[in-house]
Amino acid sequence: MIDDLPPLRAVIATHGIAARKALGQNFLLDLNLTARIARAAGDLSACDVLEVGPGPGGLTRGLLAEGARHVLAIEKDARCLPALDEIAARYPGRLTVISGDALAVDPLAHLTPPIRVVSNLPYNVGTELLVRWLTPSDWPPFWTSLTLMFQREVAERIVAKPGSKAYGRLAILAQWRAEARIVLDLPPAAFTPPPKVSSSVVHLSALPAPRYPARAETLSRVVAAGFNQRRKMLRASLRGVAPAIEDHLIAAGIAPTDRAEQVSLEAFCALARLIDGDAGDGKADDGRRRITGPG
Ligand code: SAM
Repeated sequence: MIDDLPPLRAVIATHGIAARKALGQNFLLDLNLTARIARAAGDLSACDVLEVGPGPGGLTRGLLAEGARHVLAIEKDARCLPALDEIAARYPGRLTVISGDALAVDPLAHLTPPIRVVSNLPYNVGTELLVRWLTPSDWPPFWTSLTLMFQREVAERIVAKPGSKAYGRLAILAQWRAEARIVLDLPPAAFTPPPKVSSSVVHLSALPAPRYPARAETLSRVVAAGFNQRRKMLRASLRGVAPAIEDHLIAAGIAPTDRAEQVSLEAFCALARLIDGDAGDGKADDGRRRITGPG
């Protein structure tokens, strides 16, 4: 056991936290597994951790047992609060629980940097929060790393490379300003109740600056247009994005007959700069240092 609190099955029985489908509740009850996920997040001892959707607290206990300085947990289901209070009592001053919807709560008032985000989220909320966390107007963001559970198909979209079916908007958003990798695969049986699909934990580390210069808003617009009609050639799918799009594509080194899934992150950024009237050296952006790497 990682701590002297009751096993999670007993916690669930004591507090009547039968899993509810509507809240996306698939609990992790193996504390060795939750400790492993906590370790995948990196050194927690000097960090505050934001955990969304702690449920009965399996991952929360893993984070605290692995030495997190402070955990802020946001849970929508009030039935879980007594169980989380017991954990807070076991780790005095290290766990704060907010009862509410993570999509509506601003956690930053309760967190001190450096901040790591570690969560086993319901899948629908997970993708929405990931996109929010990846698209602030300023970079670097409030977080140092995100360690998040997704259904495997979504995890594969986050780490996908050009030329693959999974490559799209999520890959570009994630890999433009972060380093993303899958750190753990989990079968349905790891959860109670088991979901229909397999899951993976993805770890994203924020880069100090975007990998290639571009305006976030322009890059998003180009990528959304390109992948919304991913079977079309870019000269057609991007027609509405900017005048003279074929010239820009050629100047960015992209064949106008290519499809979006063939285009690297670097080329998408070059295209975004050209659309913004930047000659392509990135200086018109924010002049930040360029970081080379995959994409
Ligand atoms: N972290 C726990 C674990 O690993 O066993 C629970 C995981 S369960 C997949 C997702 C949790 O997120 C549930 O406890 C659910 O009540 C909570 N939840 C769902 N939507 C939420 C939201 N919008 N804000 C905060 N918590 C939410």
